[in-house]
Amino acid sequence: MKYVPQKKPIFGETLESLQNSLAELGEPKFRAKQVMDWLYKKRARTWDAMTNLPKPLREKLAETFEIAPSKRLLAKESADETEKLLLQMGDNAMIETVVIRAPQVGVGQENSRKTICISTQVGCAYGCKFCASGLAGWKRDLSTGEIVSQLIHVCHQEDATTERASEEIASFDNIVVMGMGEPMANYKNLLPALRILNAPWGLNFGARRITISTSGVVPRIRELAAEPEQFRLAVSLHGATNPVRDQIMPVNRKYPLEELIPAIKTYGESKGRMVTLEFILIEEVNDTLEQADELTKIALDLRAHVNLIPYNTVDGLEWRRPSIARQDTFYNRLKNKGVSVTIRREKGHDIAAACGQLKLKTEEVGS
Ligand code: SAH
Ligand code: SF4
Repeated sequence: MKYVPQKKPIFGETLESLQNSLAELGEPKFRAKQVMDWLYKKRARTWDAMTNLPKPLREKLAETFEIAPSKRLLAKESADETEKLLLQMGDNAMIETVVIRAPQVGVGQENSRKTICISTQVGCAYGCKFCASGLAGWKRDLSTGEIVSQLIHVCHQEDATTERASEEIASFDNIVVMGMGEPMANYKNLLPALRILNAPWGLNFGARRITISTSGVVPRIRELAAEPEQFRLAVSLHGATNPVRDQIMPVNRKYPLEELIPAIKTYGESKGRMVTLEFILIEEVNDTLEQADELTKIALDLRAHVNLIPYNTVDGLEWRRPSIARQDTFYNRLKNKGVSVTIRREKGHDIAAACGQLKLKTEEVGS
């Protein structure tokens, strides 16, 4: 399904593309930088707020570009540290952006680290058997502007509640592309979005603080490895052998471990950074000692960090979370062999687990 909005989303523009559009409107180039400053540094929400632009130009911009490609419907705060923003796109499609606060030991909420988890698609076509996002299939890709606008919503919300030194980039610490959808399946819109977030004229948010999570789309991992930016990579492994991975992740039939692992290695080597392997623990599916030993071999070979995530139950799915004892045994097996490994047990506290709960909203609001 394709959605073509009436006006181009302004948050999908780069400085260069905006300069070109303005040239077509007969405007000087420097106006583009002024617009970007209003959007990303001063966080203007309307064209009329851009007071150093002549009124006729503001009117032309308003006719050409959409400044609000998505609407915030509500913010759901849960008892733990996660907050979900429900956003409605121009065609009524709905997505969620998650704000995760990880408290730092000994300091209050206000000093906690904030991670923003963004979505890249409406639904997901990859059909992993444990995942809520893929249950209702894929509806469409998000545009570059829709991806960027998720962070803008968060900035607007954070600006209202957090002290921000003037022109400081953002009041959050990390961005993870772990929400709904397979980021690598929307690479053509994702990469420009990440570049806008990263650009000095944009959000000026460091590439090293942006993590992209993939179920293992090998050609795109290799493509991203060749890009100059130092984005971090997380791979949803969830199975340490092909038979186990095939059972729960259809993508493995297309890109099995013998192709995936070398691609992860290339990524790690080209960026000089540790890659993270996400591993959901599902009872009697992938939580055996044989799996732990195979995972150990992979992690040591890749010098990767392993993040164990006890499975969160999804309505309508049959899988179960292993007991704490089984989780401990699995964790210790890796730890004792020298693997860099973490495990989170509290529901929702783990970033990947919190992001992995996004379900396609089918109800149409306001239509
Ligand atoms: N498509 C990408 C990013 C979105 S999924 C990917 O697959 O990596 C984000 C993370 O949530 C992934 O690590 C995913 O495996 C995890 N996840 C999905 N369902 C989950 C569940 N029921 N419990 C815990 N984590 C889950
Ligand atoms: Fe899609 Fe990732 Fe969920 Fe798999 S785990 S269905 S790739 S969102």
